[in-house]
Amino acid sequence: MPSFRSATLQLKRRLGARVVATGDAARFAASFDSSKISFLPAAVIKPRKEADIGVALALAHQHRVPVTVRGRGTTLMGSAAPVRGGWVIDMLALNRIRIDAEAGMAHVQCGATVGNIQRAAAASGWFYPPDPSSREYCTIGGNIACNAGGMHGGKYGVTRDYIIALRGFLASGEFVEWGTATKKFSAGFNLRDLWIGSEGMLGVVTGAVLKLIPQPAARWTLLTSYRDEAAAIRAALALFRQRVQPAICEFLDRESVLCAERATQTTVFPGQAGRPVILLEFDGSAADVREQKAVALAWARKHATAHRAARNRAEAEKLWEVRRKCSGAMFELGDAKLNEDIVIPMRNYVKFIRFLGGLRRRSGLHIPTFGHLADGNLHVNIMYHRADRAESRVAEVTLGKLMDTVVRMDGAISGEHGIGLAKTPFLRVQHRAAQVKAMRAVKQALDPRGILNPGKMFEPVRIWKFPKLAVHLPWDHK
Ligand SMILES: Cc1cc2nc3c(=O)[nH]c(=O)nc-3n(C[C@H](O)[C@H](O)[C@H](O)COP(=O)(O)OP(=O)(O)OC[C@H]3O[C@@H](n4cnc5c(N)ncnc54)[C@H](O)[C@@H]3O)c2cc1C
Repeated sequence: MPSFRSATLQLKRRLGARVVATGDAARFAASFDSSKISFLPAAVIKPRKEADIGVALALAHQHRVPVTVRGRGTTLMGSAAPVRGGWVIDMLALNRIRIDAEAGMAHVQCGATVGNIQRAAAASGWFYPPDPSSREYCTIGGNIACNAGGMHGGKYGVTRDYIIALRGFLASGEFVEWGTATKKFSAGFNLRDLWIGSEGMLGVVTGAVLKLIPQPAARWTLLTSYRDEAAAIRAALALFRQRVQPAICEFLDRESVLCAERATQTTVFPGQAGRPVILLEFDGSAADVREQKAVALAWARKHATAHRAARNRAEAEKLWEVRRKCSGAMFELGDAKLNEDIVIPMRNYVKFIRFLGGLRRRSGLHIPTFGHLADGNLHVNIMYHRADRAESRVAEVTLGKLMDTVVRMDGAISGEHGIGLAKTPFLRVQHRAAQVKAMRAVKQALDPRGILNPGKMFEPVRIWKFPKLAVHLPWDHK
C-alpha cells in the first residue's frame, strides 16, 4: 500500500497533530467497519471544523491520496473500510443538532447520531422517522451516504424522504450546498439526491437540513402468529388491502422465531413453538389508533392462529422481544452470516418465500429470514461455518442464487445497506452495462481523480474471502 508520506506531512503541517493522527492505534481503529475487514490508512483526520475537510480534500486531490469518509463504521458492507489506504476522515466530532421547531426542520452536522436527532426532535414535539436498528451508534452522514432505512420504511419512507438540503465538499475540496432550508427547491440539477446513497464516493457531506413530521400521539402493538410463512404473508397482504397502514410490520419466519425462542427459553405463543409471526405497530392520533386497532383485531381473529395485544408500553416491549432477540441468536446456527437486505415487490412475496424454502432444502443451510413486510425489505441470513470449506462454498453459491432470483423477481439486491464491498459481485446482476456506465460517468465528473472511497461499488470483491478481525464492537450481539 503506498505510504503517501509527503502528502501526509503537508496535511499535518496544515491542520496540526491534534486533527491528523498517524499513530498505530488511531490508524487501526479507522481501518475497519462492521464488516471487520481491515486495511490500514496512512492517517486519520478528525476535523474540528468543516473547513478542515476542505483543506484535506484539496491536498488529497492534488496528491491523489485516497480518502474514505467514516461516520461510526456500523456499515456491514465494508463501505467505510479504506481498501486503498490513504486518509480516513472521521466525522464523529461534527455532531451539532439544532431544531427549528417552527419550520419542522432539523439542522444537523453529519456526525450527529440518529438517536440523538430523534430525541432532539421529540423534545419539540417533532418526529424523525428513519430508524435503523443501529440508530444509537450510526451517524446521519452515514445514513445519508447509504440512504438508510428501518422498520418505519413502509409507512414513512427512508432517509432520502427526509433530506431537504445538504452541504459539504466536492472531491476537489470546493464547498457546495445542494438546496436550502426551504420546503421547495427547483433550481438546477438535483445533485442533493445524487449524493444520497452515494456511499462517500461523490462528495463529503458535512451537514443536512432534515424534514420533521409531527410526533404521533399514540402507538399500539400487536403480535400475531401463523401456521406457516405463506399464511403469514397472505394475511399481511389482506391487511394492506384494507388500506390499513401499520407504522411497523415485521415478519419473522419459522427459523428466526426458533432462534429467538432458544435465546429466551420460552415460546412466543404457548404450545406454538416455531410459528412464523408478524409484529405490528400502529400509530397516529388517539382516534386514528383506536380505529386501526378495531380493524386489526378483527383481521387477526380471522387470519392468525394466535394474537396478543399490548395494553401499555411495558407489554409492547415484551412483544418486541422476539424481534430483538432473533438476530444474535442466529449465531447458534453457524459462526458466519451472509446478511442480505434484499427487497421484493409485494406481488412476489409468496413466490419468494417458496423459493427460500427450496434454497434451504437444496443448500442444507439455515437461512433465517425476517424483515419489513410493508416495504418488502427482507433480511435473509445465510448461516454457515467459516472453517468448513465445503459449507462456505455452498453458502457462496446460495448467495449467488439468491441475488439472481431477487433481480428476476423485479426486486433489489439492497434496500438499505448499499453496495460497499460486500455487494460488488452483484452490482451487474442488478444493473445493465449502460446503467453501470452512466454511474461511472457521474463518478468521473464529480471525482475525476477517483480519490473518494476508491475500490468500492464497481470492482467485484468477494468480501467473505478476507480474514475477519476478532474484535468486539459495541453493537455486536455477542
Ligand atoms: C446492529 C446493526 C443494525 C443495523 N440496522 C440497520 C437498519 O435497520 N437499517 C439500515 O439502513 N442500516 C442498518 N445498519 C447498517 C448501518 O448502521 C447503516 O448503513 C448506517 O447508515 C451507517 O452509518 P455510519 O455512521 O456507521 O456510517 P459508516 O459505516 O461509517 O459509513 C457508511 C458509508 O457512508 C459513508 N459516509 C459516512 N459518513 C459520510 C459523510 N459524512 N459523507 C459522505 N459519506 C459518508 C462511508 O464512506 C461509507 O461508505 C445496521 C448496522 C448494524 C451494525
